[in-house]
Amino acid sequence: MISNLITPWLTANKRVQPGVFEIRLDSFPHPLSYHVKVHKRRKNAAMEIHNGTVVVKVPPHCNQAMVETFMSQQQQWLKQRLRHSATSTAFKRAYESGEPIWFFGQKLQLEIIRDAKTAWYLNQDSEVITISVSHRVKDVTKHVRAQLHAFYMYQASRYLPKIVKQQESRLGLVSTSLDFKFYQWRWGCCYSSGKIIFNPLLLSAPKEQIDCVIIHELCHLKHMDHSKAFWSLNKKYCNECENTKKWLKQYHNEIYFPPT
Ligand SMILES: [Zn+2]
Repeated sequence: MISNLITPWLTANKRVQPGVFEIRLDSFPHPLSYHVKVHKRRKNAAMEIHNGTVVVKVPPHCNQAMVETFMSQQQQWLKQRLRHSATSTAFKRAYESGEPIWFFGQKLQLEIIRDAKTAWYLNQDSEVITISVSHRVKDVTKHVRAQLHAFYMYQASRYLPKIVKQQESRLGLVSTSLDFKFYQWRWGCCYSSGKIIFNPLLLSAPKEQIDCVIIHELCHLKHMDHSKAFWSLNKKYCNECENTKKWLKQYHNEIYFPPT
């Protein structure tokens, strides 16, 4: 990940030992624990994040003070990386209250309650989506997932057709029909018949990113491949592609609802 030369300190008496340590850094409100790994053939110190754990890899001649200096120099990087790993790689959907639910790029909080009926309720002002699961239901997570799908399906079928129409008249390319289907890694899909399918989970993304996927699929009405001609047409109408790719990848763990 990152590698900084710390060879100038060669006077190490107490060599660093592998293990778990704690450090206080200015940018962190609490002491941060980290793992030290000593590598015989390393020349530089390096820092990595593994599943939210900080790992510092050092050459054998390092002492503890050098490791701490190194970490303190890298604390801004560390803070960024830890924040990133907390929001993306480390997150695992368990269908529990408090989990994030993305809607038009806004992070809502999932609230699960037991009630007389199974349904979803959106309260965008308080940034909460409530899933109520009937008392009679035993497999709660399965019903929470189904309600979340119902929520996105409802929102997508209400929002996307009108936005697609706007983009169709802007691009002068018109689909024959629209449909919605949940996929894990796909956001849209265009058939030679002119039919376009959108993943309702696309509604998790900010509006610019939704537009970008719509424009992408509409451009396929003219070019069914990802040829140069396709991208040059696409570029005429959209310059969000890189941001969209990044956004959808970064939050994928929080957007996709794995089967229970
Ligand atoms: Zn494509």
